[in-house]
Amino acid sequence: MDGVDLRSDTVTRPTAAMRAAMLAAEVGDDVYGEDPTVNALQRRLADDLGFEAALFVPTGTQSNLLALMAHCERGDEYLVGADAHTYKFEGGGAAVLGSIQPQPIAHDADGSLPLDRLAAAIKPVDPHFARTRLLALENTWHGRALPLDYLQAAHDFARERGLGLHLDGARLFNAAVACGVSARAIARHFDSVSVCLSKGLGAPVGSVLVGSAALIDKARRWRKVAGGGWRQAGMLAAAGRYALDHHVERLAEDHRRAAHLAGRLRGIAGIDVLGQHTNMVFIDVPAERLRELDVHLRGAGIRISIGYLPTLRLVTHLDIDDAGIERTAAAFAAFFAHA
Ligand SMILES: *Cc1c(COP(=O)(O)O)cnc(C)c1O
Repeated sequence: MDGVDLRSDTVTRPTAAMRAAMLAAEVGDDVYGEDPTVNALQRRLADDLGFEAALFVPTGTQSNLLALMAHCERGDEYLVGADAHTYKFEGGGAAVLGSIQPQPIAHDADGSLPLDRLAAAIKPVDPHFARTRLLALENTWHGRALPLDYLQAAHDFARERGLGLHLDGARLFNAAVACGVSARAIARHFDSVSVCLSKGLGAPVGSVLVGSAALIDKARRWRKVAGGGWRQAGMLAAAGRYALDHHVERLAEDHRRAAHLAGRLRGIAGIDVLGQHTNMVFIDVPAERLRELDVHLRGAGIRISIGYLPTLRLVTHLDIDDAGIERTAAAFAAFFAHA
């Protein structure tokens, strides 16, 4: 019996067809720009998202770091959500490696950063202050797709204030599927976008940064500096190309399963379902029963992350089918039946 791993959509394993695509990949030395599969992946995402150029990198963390370093110089500042991955979950890389100061901004409940709060955080041009250069948003944010009219307003705001605009679009395609628009319709508001292939899209490794040719040239240089120039990476890029061909539309299934799971959990006394957004369900359970719940679920072959976020986050993905959702709901119900 396969386990049901709801900890994250990063836990997926490449399918047999994806592995076959990886095996068949044409490769070359990417530091020389000669890996045809890497080049094809980069060209494809740049074209699909409406940008001049793209750069394939190992992780979303590196992709965001390279974007921040390409937009900002030493002593510059970026405005970023106080709970954003690019602020909180990337080891402070922009500060450590880029000498770039983050200015965290409190999120509204829908994940947006209110424009008046952003305006108040922009520093005057004066030697006392870091130079505010960039606004970095995240979509989806904790599963929520940012409202499209907010993206337009943020774009106009950034233009008026002379700020660059970067999107951490680790789950850009989940946002697009949830909003019923193309990923390009979201990406077009930004100067650069980072997309993860290794989350819901199900590739084993990889993210892609898209932007202008000049921005991507800078990012490529910083990637080399960060030790991220890679060689026959086409085998990994092939997984990404396969994922873009086969695993985008199906994200709707993950969203549907998350909605179904949320509905089932709502019916169980002892669980407070706080919300469901795209492929994520957020629940509260009595803190004193958390360890016991984890042990119970493990016994039923179900894994969740506990103690990392204040709330439990259950994430659906490629490796969770309808039966897995039923098993999860049944295991929760059985646990809470014994108060
Ligand atoms: C996963 C993730 C990233 C990048 O993560 P890596 O593990 O470095 O690939 C960036 N932003 C968000 C919102 C993410 O969920």
